[in-house]
Amino acid sequence: MNQGLTSTAEAINKLIQELNKLPGIGPKSAQRLTYYLLRAPEEQARLLADAILSVKQEITLCPTCFNVTDSAPCLICRSEERDQSKICIVEQPQDILALEHTRVYKGLYHVLHGAISPTEGIGANDIRIKELLERLKSSSMDEVILATNTNLEGEQTALYLNHLISPLGIKVTRLARGLPFGTELEYADDVTLTRAIEGRQEF
Ligand SMILES: [Zn+2]
Repeated sequence: MNQGLTSTAEAINKLIQELNKLPGIGPKSAQRLTYYLLRAPEEQARLLADAILSVKQEITLCPTCFNVTDSAPCLICRSEERDQSKICIVEQPQDILALEHTRVYKGLYHVLHGAISPTEGIGANDIRIKELLERLKSSSMDEVILATNTNLEGEQTALYLNHLISPLGIKVTRLARGLPFGTELEYADDVTLTRAIEGRQEF
């Protein structure tokens, strides 16, 4: 229990502590959310709790693209309207959300679940690169779009992937123009992302 909160009911402290563990939620926000939920109708709290549990219980990774999904394969991999000749490589599932929001890209995706980072001890074998290569070899893709973040790890990963994919005879492009260095795709705005997809250049 936090020092100074001993006068507060244990259940309240517990919720504050749990919310405080979430990214972007500091102690003050955690307190505000807790007291908001205390005042909210029980139904609202139940819906929130159920939504959190459902995400954990029903969501798995698509066995093809490794996006988060409640069906296997996922909706994008299953769709007949998607361009099967293009594949966009992203670091995280939430990057797909950002790219889909622009509505300009109609191809497939592959989620690496990270980026190569020697400083953090993350190597090529720790992210879904092997699965990507297997997928590329067993399909007929025209273009691989490297949409990793434009920070150091993202650039290193893109370079490494280009080195592996180019020999397969597939065009490799990099989504970069318009995206300032250090950009995490997830936080890029629609206009910038759209420009980056449309202005992608051959590696
Ligand atoms: Zn999929």
